[in-house]
Amino acid sequence: MSEKLSFVHPTPNSPWGTYLQQVDRVVPYLGDLAKWAETLKRPKRALIVDVPIEMDDGRIAHYEGYRVQHNMSRGPGKGGVRFHPDVTLEEVMALSAWMTVKTAAVNLPYGGAKGGIRVDPKKLSLKELEKVTRRYTSEIGIIIGPHTDIPAPDVNTNGQIMAWMMDTYSMNTGGTATGVVTGKPLHLGGSLGRVKATGRGVFVTGREAARRLGLDLRGARVAVQGFGNVGSVAAELFAEAGAKIVAVQDHTGTVVNENGLDLEKLIPISRTPAGAAGFEGGDKVPNEQFWEVACDILIPAALEGQITAERAKKTKAKLVLEGANGPTVPEADDILAERGVLVVPDVICNAGGVTVSYFEWVQDFSSFFWDEDEINVRLDRIMMNALNQIWDTADKHKITLRTATYAVACERILMARQERGLYP
Ligand code: GLU
Repeated sequence: MSEKLSFVHPTPNSPWGTYLQQVDRVVPYLGDLAKWAETLKRPKRALIVDVPIEMDDGRIAHYEGYRVQHNMSRGPGKGGVRFHPDVTLEEVMALSAWMTVKTAAVNLPYGGAKGGIRVDPKKLSLKELEKVTRRYTSEIGIIIGPHTDIPAPDVNTNGQIMAWMMDTYSMNTGGTATGVVTGKPLHLGGSLGRVKATGRGVFVTGREAARRLGLDLRGARVAVQGFGNVGSVAAELFAEAGAKIVAVQDHTGTVVNENGLDLEKLIPISRTPAGAAGFEGGDKVPNEQFWEVACDILIPAALEGQITAERAKKTKAKLVLEGANGPTVPEADDILAERGVLVVPDVICNAGGVTVSYFEWVQDFSSFFWDEDEINVRLDRIMMNALNQIWDTADKHKITLRTATYAVACERILMARQERGLYP
């Protein structure tokens, strides 16, 4: 993090800097609403908390936690919580801002927020993980709530962590507040289809983009970076549609097979400490080679800043589906556009997760739960409507899908901002 961090002076090459450039690019398309655009460049509120816990060996460890509420013009804050050793306040600011754009792009009645703890959860015991989660939830409890800001899973967090968050918030407030977090286990007010929703949304937007490009999914070659909840589910759905998964990279390494990797064997191994690198049914190659693999579709589904200018020059893909948040830096975006590579941006491509989070939240409030078909049909409809509208905007102004998504989303956000008016 920059020593002189301020909202408007990002650290060079940081996710927040990427986000600010993405906003600058949309301003010319905002008409009279442009006078409110500065709103988008400043988070509404950012909280830093100390998370002290007693470790199993009796030591007291301190972790740093964050919750940033970027914008609440259109509804309560919404966005995941990430546990990762590299989390910084500035990163969480960017992730919260991307949630604002994402919820507006698919027209959910939410603003954007995000949280994180700078911790390596792989180094904690289960008991320590529970303590970190509960203390963090208690500390951010002053700003979250079912009607104010609703956390969810993100990198290295899952249903069990959401259950502890829901319990902690409920113990502190005296009731059982299922609607305070989404991505919960099914018997605690969770929703069918939530676990796979982000990967499914990547597939739905990818299928439509491929159709428009005239790219047949049968036999299409797909490369996936990041093989967690997003990348592995998207890979399975593309394979079901007849595509070949020719390369997978996770934190353990890169495995390639031009005839297609056997996902039924690869997925279980990737869940063990051996990771994708432990899979025998493909060739292990140096990580940098992943970016030049012969493929039609590239799915970055790991962390920010992965598609750099160099990698954008190398890729053979015709279509990039951003399962991760912020995987492409602005310079790389320009190179991909010049090279005719179509990018379906994160803020629409991976919006399936928060869309089913919204369904979960609605189900919790109505205490009436839907079947999985209903969820998947509604998810498909919301994603397709949003994508079609964005595509029309891109065609009309001759701009990239990313800038078009920002145009549609930022108009909704800033219209709400203007109609609400400034207080006082
Ligand atoms: N962490 C996910 C995202 O980046 C989901 C957020 C949510 O469901 O609120 O979109």
